[in-house]
Amino acid sequence: MADCPNRQRNLKDCTCTYTACGKRGMCCECVAQHRAAGEIPGCFFTAAGEASYDRSVRSFIRDQSQGTRR
Ligand code: SF4
Repeated sequence: MADCPNRQRNLKDCTCTYTACGKRGMCCECVAQHRAAGEIPGCFFTAAGEASYDRSVRSFIRDQSQGTRR
């Protein structure tokens, strides 16, 4: 995997706490991976929703419907 010239800048805004993931800061790869799996990247979730590590659309809708914001 090639490194991204924007990675350090992206990491400053990345709200994903799954630090074991090698795609943190590599937004195009993060989006592509979750899109291929029918999922949504962690940065779209609230802090509480993100912490579940459940990136499914069902989890996203549940997270958003609870009305909690970062
Ligand atoms: S949302 Fe998924 S792919 Fe993106 S950085 Fe977090 S764990 Fe990795």
